[in-house]
Amino acid sequence: MQTNENEMVIGIPRAMSFYHNYPFYYGFFTALGIKIILSDMTTKQTMSSGSALVVTETCLPIKVYVGHVLNLVEKGVKNIFVPSIQSIAPKIYNCSKIRGLPDLIRNVVKSPINIIEATLDKSEKKCGLYEFLQQAAAPFGITDFNRIKEASKAGWRTYNNFYIMAKSGMSYKKALSYALQGKVLIENDTKEYPISIALVSHGYNIFDERTSMKLIEKLEKMDVKVYTTLQLSKEQTDEGILTISDKMYWANEYDMTGTAGHYLKDNKIDGIIALNAFGCGPDSLMIEKIIRKAKQFNKPILNLTIDEQTGEAGFVTRLEAFVDMLFRKKRANIINKIGISDERKPYVPNMDFIETK
Ligand code: SF4
Repeated sequence: MQTNENEMVIGIPRAMSFYHNYPFYYGFFTALGIKIILSDMTTKQTMSSGSALVVTETCLPIKVYVGHVLNLVEKGVKNIFVPSIQSIAPKIYNCSKIRGLPDLIRNVVKSPINIIEATLDKSEKKCGLYEFLQQAAAPFGITDFNRIKEASKAGWRTYNNFYIMAKSGMSYKKALSYALQGKVLIENDTKEYPISIALVSHGYNIFDERTSMKLIEKLEKMDVKVYTTLQLSKEQTDEGILTISDKMYWANEYDMTGTAGHYLKDNKIDGIIALNAFGCGPDSLMIEKIIRKAKQFNKPILNLTIDEQTGEAGFVTRLEAFVDMLFRKKRANIINKIGISDERKPYVPNMDFIETK
């Protein structure tokens, strides 16, 4: 498909901020009459094409992002949205790779594309949300502030609908799909799960099914109830951050230390899985603190590091062992508490889906 550069079409890479912000982007651009073209779901090819253009030490999510931009280029999309999200609150910054995304894309993608570069920097004056949105709309000839403000309201409506559903426990995919259709549905999950795990990571790691190797699906098939940052309010993650650290610096701390700090104190959570990308400086600092705190709370934690070479077999083996350990620990606690004999039929987690070849 070929698009004309001047058309009201914007390409959005299905990576990085997409995983938290797409409901807002969708509501906003759609209200302005700008058609969105998304890159395809991540594949091995996305990873390898992105990896080929950046230095090896770059973290996996950035390699994936570059791969998604290339996918949009292949689709013939000329206007590609590459926001520079510097700071999300005064003195709360993103990592340098996220902050420098437009520069990175400009330097490594040589095709003639228009990078729609909007900057959000809440640590600076005149770099707030409205300025960000004005910069996103200007390349399409839209400068009317009232129109941008109305479109922003439409963005927040879609965003809030998504978060209401995700917070209620609905899966990421379903909540996103309903929100984009303008629906709000609340489903009650009546299934009983013997084990509950909090998955601690960035949205772009856990909700990208190729990057996470369908981690959530794998855990659910093992009868594990999975909790993520999406079920928490900002107040809960703020409090969680203070459980682990005395002060917040990284924007990503909501997803990492904030989420971990909250769930470490939550008795329904049997264990924590932290998923972090190889080469991520902020994550490695945060994970250290989380692991130390988990020991204090006596909460088991599994730290999984991913890169484009991570093999699924080893990944699954570690998951199986962790879930099995959590079940045995929980069972032993119940037996000790109620004083029953240990001769009951053991629970065996469902591992049928694991491919052995
Ligand atoms: S926070 Fe870490 S994983 Fe995310 S972009 Fe920055 S370096 Fe990469």
